[in-house]
Amino acid sequence: MHSFSVIIIGAGPGGLACAALLAEKGLDVLVLEKKAVPGPKVCGGGITWRGLIRRVPESLIDRAFPAQHIRSTLQETVLQSDSPMVATVRREHLGEWMHEQARAAGTVVRTSCRVAKITPNSVETSQGTFGFRQLVGADGARYLVRRYLGIPTEKLGLGIHFRVPGWREKMEWHLNDTLFGNGYAWIFPFRDMASIGVYGAIPGNSPRKMLQNLKRWAAARSISLDGLKPQGGLINFDYRGWRFGNIMLIGDAAGLASGLTGEGMYQALVSGETAARAIIDPDCDCGELERLVAKQKKHLRVAALSATNRIVNLATMEILLLALRAGIIPFSMLEMAD
Ligand SMILES: Cc1cc2nc3c(=O)[nH]c(=O)nc-3n(C[C@H](O)[C@H](O)[C@H](O)COP(=O)(O)OP(=O)(O)OC[C@H]3O[C@@H](n4cnc5c(N)ncnc54)[C@H](O)[C@@H]3O)c2cc1C
Repeated sequence: MHSFSVIIIGAGPGGLACAALLAEKGLDVLVLEKKAVPGPKVCGGGITWRGLIRRVPESLIDRAFPAQHIRSTLQETVLQSDSPMVATVRREHLGEWMHEQARAAGTVVRTSCRVAKITPNSVETSQGTFGFRQLVGADGARYLVRRYLGIPTEKLGLGIHFRVPGWREKMEWHLNDTLFGNGYAWIFPFRDMASIGVYGAIPGNSPRKMLQNLKRWAAARSISLDGLKPQGGLINFDYRGWRFGNIMLIGDAAGLASGLTGEGMYQALVSGETAARAIIDPDCDCGELERLVAKQKKHLRVAALSATNRIVNLATMEILLLALRAGIIPFSMLEMAD
C-alpha cells in the first residue's frame, strides 16, 4: 500500500488550495478526485471583491460588475461601487488553474478516482488503497468524510440553475417572498451565457416547487428556458467544527457555506489554506478561519430569523434592502469575506 503524509479527498477549490500550500512546504500530498477533470461543478460562479476576485488572476474573471441590481417584493435598487462588487468565474477555468498550481507545487492528483471507504489510516478507492497520516475531507456536500466522522448534516441549502445562452447586461438578485420564500433568484452573466437560478434552504423549500417557481418567474420576465436542463446541487451550511484528530474538514464538507446567500467558494479556499497551515504547524494562527466562522454564524442567524414565517421573512428582506439602499449596511455584509 502506497502511503502519503496527507490525503485530500476532493479537488474542488478547498482541496486544491490545501494541496498547493502543503506541497509548497514539501509534504507528500495525494488528492483523490472522482471526476475525470477537476473543476466543473454546478455553481453560479459568483465571486466577491473582498473574497475571491483579488485572489485569482484577472485572466480568470469572465465578467465583473460594479453595479448590483436588487429587487424585493416592495423595492428595487441599484448598488453602485467604484470597483467590481461581484464577478463571475467559470468553475472549469478556476479548477484548471488551481489544479495547475497544485501540480506545479508537487501535488499528486489522481482523477477518475472515487473514494469508497475510509478506515482510520487508509482510504479504499476505485484505483486501490492508499495510506495517510492526515486526511482532509474536501469532498463537498457529498459527506463521505463527514459521515465517516459521524457528524450529522441538518442545515442544507439547494441551488438550482440554468445556463442560459446569450449576453445579459446586468447582475441581478431577486428577493420575492411569494416565489422564493427566504431564498432568492439570481442572474449572473458570463460572456456567452448567464447562470439563472434559485437558492433556498431545505427542507423549508421543496426542490420541485423551487424549480416550478423559477420557471414561472423566468417566463414572466420573457427568459426562455426551453430545451435547457436545470442543474442542481446541495449547499452545506451546518458547520460543527473542522479539526477532528487526524481528520480535517474544509469547505462545503465542513458546512462553511453561507446559509443566507449560498456563497461557498471563498470559504472553501480559506479553510483549505488554514487546514494546510494547521497540518504544517498545529499551533498556527487560525484567525482568518475563525472570523469566517463568526460571519457564517451571523448569516445563519439572519437566515433563521427570515425562516420564522412569511411576515417576518418579508419584513427581514425589506429592512435588509432598505438598509443597503440607505448605506446603513454595506453590500459586504452579504459577502463572507471581511
Ligand atoms: C447551484 C449552485 C450555485 C452556487 N453558486 C455559488 C456562487 O455563485 N458563488 C459561490 O461562492 N458559491 C456558490 N455555490 C457554492 C459552491 O459551489 C460551493 O460552496 C463550493 O464549490 C465548495 O467548494 P469545496 O471545495 O468545498 O467543494 P466542491 O467544489 O463541491 O468540491 C468537492 C470535490 O470532491 C469530489 N468528491 C466528492 N466525493 C468524492 C469521493 N467519494 N471521491 C473522490 N472525490 C470526491 C467532487 O467530485 C468535487 O470535485 C453554489 C452552489 C450551487 C449548488
